[in-house]
Amino acid sequence: MAITTAAVQALDLLPHSTSLSLVSAKQSLMASIPVFRFLVLLMIVGFCRCVYGWDATTSAPPNIVLIFMDDMGYADPGPFGGDAELTPNLNEMAAEGRRFTDFYVSQSVCSASRASLLTGCYNIRIGIQGALGPKSRIGLNTGEMTIAELCRQKAYATACFGKWHLGHEVPFLPLQHGFDEYFGLPYSNDMWPFHPEVTHLPVEERLRSWPNLPLIENNTVIDAEVTAEDQTQLTRRYTEKAVSFIERNYKRPFFLYLPHSMVHVPLFSGSEFQGKSGKGTFSDVLMEIDWSVGQIVQTLRRFQLENNTLLIFTSDNGPWLSYGNHAGSAAPLREGKGTVFDGGCRVPCIMKWPDRISPGSTCSEPAMTIDLLPTIAELMGGTLPDHPIDGKSISGLMCGEAEIKSPHDALYFYWGPELQAVRSGRWKMHFPHNYRTLNGVPGGKDGMPVKYESSKIGEALFDLSQDPGEEQNVLLMYPAIAEKLRSLATAARTELGDGSTRGSGLRPAGQLESVQ
Ligand code: MG
Repeated sequence: MAITTAAVQALDLLPHSTSLSLVSAKQSLMASIPVFRFLVLLMIVGFCRCVYGWDATTSAPPNIVLIFMDDMGYADPGPFGGDAELTPNLNEMAAEGRRFTDFYVSQSVCSASRASLLTGCYNIRIGIQGALGPKSRIGLNTGEMTIAELCRQKAYATACFGKWHLGHEVPFLPLQHGFDEYFGLPYSNDMWPFHPEVTHLPVEERLRSWPNLPLIENNTVIDAEVTAEDQTQLTRRYTEKAVSFIERNYKRPFFLYLPHSMVHVPLFSGSEFQGKSGKGTFSDVLMEIDWSVGQIVQTLRRFQLENNTLLIFTSDNGPWLSYGNHAGSAAPLREGKGTVFDGGCRVPCIMKWPDRISPGSTCSEPAMTIDLLPTIAELMGGTLPDHPIDGKSISGLMCGEAEIKSPHDALYFYWGPELQAVRSGRWKMHFPHNYRTLNGVPGGKDGMPVKYESSKIGEALFDLSQDPGEEQNVLLMYPAIAEKLRSLATAARTELGDGSTRGSGLRPAGQLESVQ
């Protein structure tokens, strides 16, 4: 593709800009340049169609921009019931794109969720659970194919700016997973000596639990001790890196992955946003995130890339409710981060792609982050990995009509190795499990959490179309539905396991020892 791009650029064409279609380019060439150059162009187009699977005469492969929030609740953005005054750019994005009302993550915690997002697999399949800490010796296995590696098949430029959280040791960092560039925190921004659990301890003891937080560029630590002041600049710096990346790569297709550190606690915003909302710290941070979205959109517009860019905005899990006024909201969904209830696993999702997605539309079919990799593969004509993945293409749900159904018979929700819930159509079934809850107790204040209680749910069936808050157990009213969901769960247990029973389809995480 590099050779192809260079050849086309030599003809002063921008092959990736939708504003300069090859059809019109061919017309101008015919009128103004020698015939042999026109023939060269036809050869290039034919080569691309044969080798790269996309039809350059009708469409160029789309740019992909994936904005991934940390701990943003279902009801935080304006288009999902949040305070619309705080999110004008997200409101615009939804008006120009499609809201996915029933979009899920595989597990409502940071590393697990990211593993699924980037590989198209349930995180349990690929051995990444929970949130990896600074002492972790594992990471995303380099044998897995990420979206970045998929995009590289088509000579996309790739970059990750933000929180990685799939292994902080060099063998697991983004450059080893298909990204050309990386800048950001290797894990959560609360994994530092100012974690609320340790602030009462002497510094030496704090550092034993939570060492200093590094900032990494490519494979190098560029700041070994991130400060609170540094954290106020994270959203702006990620955004500036993203804008620069688009400016440097506008002539070729690109995949930009922007996993923000916010709105995970501790909350920080830039000085120009502190107090701006008049509604508290969380709202200030949300305003800066929305500003960042606006910067991305404006940059795409500036280079006339907006129409052929698939812009996705979603979150890794629901709100961390124990942090009270520093957490978002999942209302009317039940519970939040760290549970398999919809408040933990169902996230806001907006997709915008003017060339293909109808503006102002809504999809209410169940889908999951695992679907992005196979969807992008289909859109660009890429080749999926040889190993099994769990996601399915949702190009129909993105670009099609309202009646198109989810490609999934069921979506599965594990907590650790335990299969705790399954969703099929409008139905969601829980199997008996413990879960954390505030049980009606108010959350914490100004960055200090309260403790969760432990509660237990028995086998339960909820009709999410009538009961999105998972409150009315209708198990006894619909025995046939319950039996169907039990049998779907049995199939998952065979492949992915459950509790102490190991599934047949599991693959290991990357181990530090094995890659050094
Ligand atoms: Mg998170």
